[in-house]
Amino acid sequence: MMKIIENYSLKSLNTFGVDVKTRYIAEIFSDNDLFKLLEDKEFESVRKFILGGGSNILFTKDFEGLVIKNSIPGINIIDEDDESIIIETGAGVNWDDFVSYCVEKKWCGVENLSLIPGTVGAAPIQNIGAYGQELKNVLYNLEGIFIETGEKKIFNNYECKFSYRESIFKNEFKNKFVITRIVFKLSKKPEVNISYPLVREELNNRKISDPKIRDLRKIVVDIRNSKLPDPKIIGNAGSFFKNPVVRNDKFKMLKEKYPDLNSYPVDDDHVKLSAAALIEKCGWKGKRIGNCGSYEKQPLVIVNYGEATAGEILELANNIRSSVEENFEVTLQQEVNLV
Ligand SMILES: Cc1cc2nc3c(=O)[nH]c(=O)nc-3n(C[C@H](O)[C@H](O)[C@H](O)COP(=O)(O)OP(=O)(O)OC[C@H]3O[C@@H](n4cnc5c(N)ncnc54)[C@H](O)[C@@H]3O)c2cc1C
Repeated sequence: MMKIIENYSLKSLNTFGVDVKTRYIAEIFSDNDLFKLLEDKEFESVRKFILGGGSNILFTKDFEGLVIKNSIPGINIIDEDDESIIIETGAGVNWDDFVSYCVEKKWCGVENLSLIPGTVGAAPIQNIGAYGQELKNVLYNLEGIFIETGEKKIFNNYECKFSYRESIFKNEFKNKFVITRIVFKLSKKPEVNISYPLVREELNNRKISDPKIRDLRKIVVDIRNSKLPDPKIIGNAGSFFKNPVVRNDKFKMLKEKYPDLNSYPVDDDHVKLSAAALIEKCGWKGKRIGNCGSYEKQPLVIVNYGEATAGEILELANNIRSSVEENFEVTLQQEVNLV
């Protein structure tokens, strides 16, 4: 019988380390566990929240509902030929364990996403991305269960409506659909992605002219360890804001005032700005206010120095957002999910 615990502290289950409680929590290891929970009359009208590794969440208060911790395991090969491999992975598998497994097998496509915290099941929610790679480039399809109806559904890549840090699961189906497994299509050809300037720079520094998949993983791991705070040591949820996308004419205006501002092309009419650069120009980098602050090596990350409440973190986030708005007339959108 599945264990359901009452009045449980979520402090160790969110990487921000915010100390809030949930009314109920249950851990699922299979579709059957989930069906049982959804069919349980006691929880019929209780609010439900799906939790992975808690690394992209800010709990703002005690949760008066049922937290469903997704721990569905398993990595299985579905199909393969000389060029590619199709792998099915349980939603509860740790994302970086999955990446490490693929790199060891020399399957190409997820190595640039090394060391991103959290679970495989949460990866599609914001279409995780880093160092020139995005989940949408390797996701074949995914399966899950609707909370309301218990209906199973498979979404192909197109149906997930992926875009920059977005998907259908963060919008229309937010808190409505539990992802239970994901199918990836990875390449057996070692065609590594070195589009990201910092990655190329590191390859040069290390005098690697013919990079292998494992070289990419090593470089990404080293870059991340040198720039990002380890949530086990200092609470955080990665980038607090998304990089803002602005029209070309807007960027031209900003560039006149701030000649060193960089941009990345999005489409013919838009470019992406670095939110970290805007925040830094407003003087927030490394600034600490009480129990929280903007991280000294990466100002886009808000860190919890110990006992910060969600209220303090949100106040700091709002102040950062206001500064950026005042100085650049650019509105920062939150990346972290508020609960
Ligand atoms: C130090 C650090 C660095 C980071 N770097 C990056 C980065 O480079 N790129 C990037 O994209 N992100 C990054 N993140 C953010 C985070 O790691 C990712 O968003 C990750 O995918 C979150 O996984 P999780 O399992 O922790 O999700 P959680 O935080 O548990 O959940 C996030 C959201 O997904 C929902 N959810 C979780 N699992 C499921 C499921 N099975 N079915 C349906 N909904 C679900 C939750 O309800 C919630 O809304 C970083 C975070 C940290 C702390």
